[in-house]
Amino acid sequence: MAGQRYGTIEMIARLVAFDTTSRNSNLDCVAFIRDYLAGFGVESELFPEPGGKKANLYATLGPGDRPGVALSGHLDVVPVDGQAWDGDPFRLVERDGRLYGRGAADMKGFVGAALALVPEFLARLRDVPLHLCLSFDEELGCRGVRHLISGIEGRPLKPRGCVVGEPTGMRAIAAHKGKVSMHCEVTGLECHSAVAHTGVNAVEYAALVIAHLKAMARRLGAEGPLDPEFDPPFTTAHTGVVAGGTALNIVPARASFDFEFRTLPAHDGDALVAELRSFAEGALLPEMRAVHPGAGFAWHELSRIPALAADEDDPFTRLVLDLAGTKRPGKVSFGTEAGLYQQAGIPAIVCGPGEIEQAHKPNEFIAREQIAACERFLLSLADRLAAL
Ligand SMILES: [Zn+2]
Repeated sequence: MAGQRYGTIEMIARLVAFDTTSRNSNLDCVAFIRDYLAGFGVESELFPEPGGKKANLYATLGPGDRPGVALSGHLDVVPVDGQAWDGDPFRLVERDGRLYGRGAADMKGFVGAALALVPEFLARLRDVPLHLCLSFDEELGCRGVRHLISGIEGRPLKPRGCVVGEPTGMRAIAAHKGKVSMHCEVTGLECHSAVAHTGVNAVEYAALVIAHLKAMARRLGAEGPLDPEFDPPFTTAHTGVVAGGTALNIVPARASFDFEFRTLPAHDGDALVAELRSFAEGALLPEMRAVHPGAGFAWHELSRIPALAADEDDPFTRLVLDLAGTKRPGKVSFGTEAGLYQQAGIPAIVCGPGEIEQAHKPNEFIAREQIAACERFLLSLADRLAAL
């Protein structure tokens, strides 16, 4: 099959040129990839979001009668709004061995390398396939890939393992923290602030819960549980958004706040949320209800990413560690899609080109040598799949 070939840098430039900021449709980018793969006789399966504005792409390279290994990357990027870029963020430019552009590190570098190597993969894959899993809305709490995973997890030939190519400097990462994020609405009772004692001040009750969360964060930092291989070595908690009140002379009836726990793999985020709720509902709610029976707290989960804790004795884990030249796998504090693959029974490792410190910033870049290291890694992975 004579498809259109692209050099890796050229392919990354093509991907960067699609403005796939999470709020936008990614369908043009997906169509480009689908057509490119079709040129090599590779069929793509799309797993769209319910609204149909975005889609995940799943494609199998090589023989389809063995489970094989998935290469997973997200196509969406974070916004450039308000960031001071030196040039057009959606035009890849090279300076001093670095390629600058939105998504260069996170993570069109990895996706571009995997796509550019498709003809090489097809020539090398004999017995075991590689799968491409390209997702949307990763930057919005790994929302998109869930549609893809639920589409493939029941299949007899679901992947045997998955490499998530988030930027790790090509070091293999076998564990990351999990995350539970929540929205809380506080309902109080409005009144004139001159008779504040006859109302229920929703802002103040929100503040008491937020202060309790801060106390929990301090305790988690001081007492653990601790895992020194993570930075920071403890579960963290914080409040990121607060809203409430209309005017100073009105006791506010409404307040809300968003908070999260980022948990060590061995730590139960739900138990921490339950602890905060039991403070709010045990220590605060009775006095609120004594003034106004309609007062209360409403809790909604915003997102949840399971922690990753790969089995280091699994042959797939060992193969990836070996190919990456990683003696001791690292642990990172950011969440990735790897936790979701693991939860679906697909062992996952995070290993990709570029550094997380360069992601999400103006003048995001990836070093050329990182791309070269990624290409070497992917080609040797293709060569050694039969060992799995
Ligand atoms: Zn990413």
